[in-house]
Amino acid sequence: SMGTALNINNIEVIYDHVILVLKGVSLAVPEGKIVALLGANGAGKSTTLKAISNLLSAERGDVTKGSIEYKGERVDRLTPNDLVRRGVIQVMEGRHCFGHLTVEENLLTGAYTRQVSNIQVRRDLERIYDYFPRLKERRKSQSGYTSGGEQQMTAIGRAMMAKPSMILLDEPSMGLAPQVVEEIFEIVKDLNRRENVSFLLAEQNTMVALRYADFGYILENGRVVMEGAASELASNEDVKEFYLGVS
Ligand code: ATP
Repeated sequence: SMGTALNINNIEVIYDHVILVLKGVSLAVPEGKIVALLGANGAGKSTTLKAISNLLSAERGDVTKGSIEYKGERVDRLTPNDLVRRGVIQVMEGRHCFGHLTVEENLLTGAYTRQVSNIQVRRDLERIYDYFPRLKERRKSQSGYTSGGEQQMTAIGRAMMAKPSMILLDEPSMGLAPQVVEEIFEIVKDLNRRENVSFLLAEQNTMVALRYADFGYILENGRVVMEGAASELASNEDVKEFYLGVS
């Protein structure tokens, strides 16, 4: 269906009680879609994702205005774990694999919020490996010794093990070669189509993100300055000039 999955209404975020970083951000992620949250370094993309998954308090950040709804219910006050149980999970910037665990052990940690049998978990693991054949090859390797692309895949695969209906994906392309970035976005698209997972992805890599997303929002200095269908944003002259480095 085309219902709205995630609805963010006019949120304001303040760090350390004084630093106003999000100045009233509204955005929506329709069910089953990929939405790109774009903008330069420091625009407020990560802050928006952390506001949704309630990860701001660790950084002395507060949502001081607005509301966040998932599937029609307020989720503003939920802990990250409760939000995972509702189906929303964040893959943090920088990937955060456990370096001393194997790829497979990392993937298995993703199932921790679910009360399911080992047999079911093994089945889910095999299903994840269908999307990430490289992880299957590397399953016995320590994550700390795998490539950046493989670590990003592990982080997404681990999130998938929680059976989410929405993934908040922070800067998946960071530090990766263009070919690896394509590989990861192809998998994201695949997960979106075949597992019906919606994505809200924060990206500085505007060009690539708009090729894979359905909709996009451009943040500037804590405000949404432009929004629309990804194809329209990609052909918009201002967007091209300011964010794609083409004029
Ligand atoms: P990046 O790609 O660098 O993560 P971003 O668009 O995700 O950029 P944010 O990380 O959300 O931007 O940062 C937005 C603004 O908030 C920046 O000016 C940043 O300096 C500030 N900021 C982020 N975290 C904190 C914090 N813990 N305390 C104070 N200010 C912060």
